[in-house]
Amino acid sequence: MSATIIDGRAVAARVRADVRREVAELTERADEAPGLATILVGDDPASAIYVANKRKACAEVGIADQHRHLPTDATQDEVAAVIDECNGDPRVSGILLQLPVPAGLDGAALTGSIVPEKDVDGLTPISAGRLAQGTPGLRPCTPLGVLELLDSYDVPLEGAEAVVVGRSDLVGKPLAALLLQRSATVTICHSRTRDLARVCARADVLVAAVGLPRLITGEHVKSGAAVIDVGMNRTPEGLSGDVDFEDTAPRAGLITPVPGGVGPMTIAMLLRNTLTAARMQALAPGRSSL
Ligand code: NAP
Repeated sequence: MSATIIDGRAVAARVRADVRREVAELTERADEAPGLATILVGDDPASAIYVANKRKACAEVGIADQHRHLPTDATQDEVAAVIDECNGDPRVSGILLQLPVPAGLDGAALTGSIVPEKDVDGLTPISAGRLAQGTPGLRPCTPLGVLELLDSYDVPLEGAEAVVVGRSDLVGKPLAALLLQRSATVTICHSRTRDLARVCARADVLVAAVGLPRLITGEHVKSGAAVIDVGMNRTPEGLSGDVDFEDTAPRAGLITPVPGGVGPMTIAMLLRNTLTAARMQALAPGRSSL
């Protein structure tokens, strides 16, 4: 058997096209486009590139650019004031504080001050609590992207054995919660897990979100499993995932490549979250229903 390769670029392109169409419909009805406020503090080159890519993606689907840029020496109070201003600005549907923020600022506290209705990264404690309780709310983009890939390739989740390697607040934990919500039987592995290969090998759906190049090899993979590689590791040979693609592809049923798998999904789901946020705000008491 050799695995079907999941085409993340194609799925992301479809999501973006759907969002573009729905943004146009919403903009026509509301007379105003949804807006995303990306907040960049300082001039870290990598962060600047990430933010530029997000703003470009917004422009392509008709989401209004409400970007804010603060200097490296901005104080906690100054950044908090900008977030507060965005919280109250009806033109801003979603707020994204680019992390990490410069040393001396408390990024977690700043992120936590974003109102949950505009938390398009899904990283505030309230959004995390809503996800844990299974109540409506905005979910983190990369885990949402993983689910979108699985759904696009009709991978059954109900009753499936799902193993998530990694327990970060950004990926592993919210992804496990989303899979649980879809009635998968979920196991979460981490650096202290004993016999990782044995635990992974029972998975129908195996997701690696670790940050260690090629940690997952053929012995971790059950024959026919769906293998999703969230890892993005810069190595001397180039970008590498957490999964050894050559070793696992012959055993897997479906597998994501790196690049071109999960990576393109994150921004696509950010766009969708911004649209969802705009709709949630439009339906809030006191606003006209759209
Ligand atoms: P993270 O916060 O560093 O978390 C890594 C997790 O892996 C931790 O829970 C850690 O366990 C676990 N781990 C470390 N060594 C392990 C081992 N030997 N066996 C099993 N588990 C182990 O990383 P992250 O933010 O979740 O990111 C993970 C990867 O995904 C990175 O490569 C990152 O670049 C990538 N990523 C990609 C996207 C995308 O858009 N494609 C988005 C986000 C992240 P402990 O908790 O015990 O330390």
